[in-house]
Amino acid sequence: MSIELKDVSFYYFPGTPMEVKALDGVSLSIEDGESVGIMGPTGSGKSTLVQLMNGLLKPSAGEVLVDGINLSSKGTNLKSLRQRVGLVFQYPEHQLFEETVLADVCFGPRNMGFPPDKAEIMAREALRAVGVDEKLFHRSPFELSGGQMRRVAIAGVLAMSPNTLILDEPTAGLDPRGRNGILGRIVRLHEERKITVILVSHNMEDIARVAKRVIVLSKGKVVMDGSTRSVFSEVEALHEVGLGVPQVTELMYRLGLPCDVITVEEARTAIRDWLRRKGTCSRES
Ligand code: ADP
Ligand code: MG
Repeated sequence: MSIELKDVSFYYFPGTPMEVKALDGVSLSIEDGESVGIMGPTGSGKSTLVQLMNGLLKPSAGEVLVDGINLSSKGTNLKSLRQRVGLVFQYPEHQLFEETVLADVCFGPRNMGFPPDKAEIMAREALRAVGVDEKLFHRSPFELSGGQMRRVAIAGVLAMSPNTLILDEPTAGLDPRGRNGILGRIVRLHEERKITVILVSHNMEDIARVAKRVIVLSKGKVVMDGSTRSVFSEVEALHEVGLGVPQVTELMYRLGLPCDVITVEEARTAIRDWLRRKGTCSRES
């Protein structure tokens, strides 16, 4: 499914002394099957943007269209929309509430109207897809580690079989193992099930691993939108809006080498090529 924003602005508390302009004339479109990273400093509007995409917030101006349907139109079925465009909030474990892991993940499909046995099948399948061990299904979600809780919360959204999965800072506060496990699952969901993935993160390594395209927000505006490689190679422009690049890209930048490198493997190849060329040159001179 496609998501399109046309000149969208959003204000919190419009018309009051507390008014905040969170988004300012944002236009973008995301096609079915894409993997998109959304970056930007704190307060740049990332969370506001993703809540507009699944209709939790309504634009103050402009239009949000999902599969061509304007979410602000009367009669748009927002419940079905939120099932198809699943949003995993930042710190989603704060929204776990059932007595067991399985019951928690069943909540979404039950709420959609599936009978208990079918809901349970969907929940089990989602838990397996995010790598939660069956041994944990009947435990309280609150007894789990941070990483496992996060997986349960993602399964809660995945159980509703969304076409698009939006994750708002899914690895925030996790240790490297927890973070790697979750990112690996997200990549697999995207590759194997062709789910559109929209990942909000200010961790550049996470974005480089998951997203083929990056949208950069600054002060409520889209300031960059392009392939992950092309956006990260704009090291100086990113520094200017207060963002970094993956560490390997930063290293290449500081060495004065080509910056269109986003993984360690690519850096290795580029540095070898460079050394080889350098070797040849110095022998010739
Ligand atoms: P990000 O996710 O990039 O940190 P947000 O979308 O949360 O950015 O915030 C964008 C702007 O809107 C910030 O100035 C923030 O303070 C403000 N904001 C966010 N949520 C609320 C809210 N619920 N009430 C009032 N202001 C908010
Ligand atoms: Mg946020």
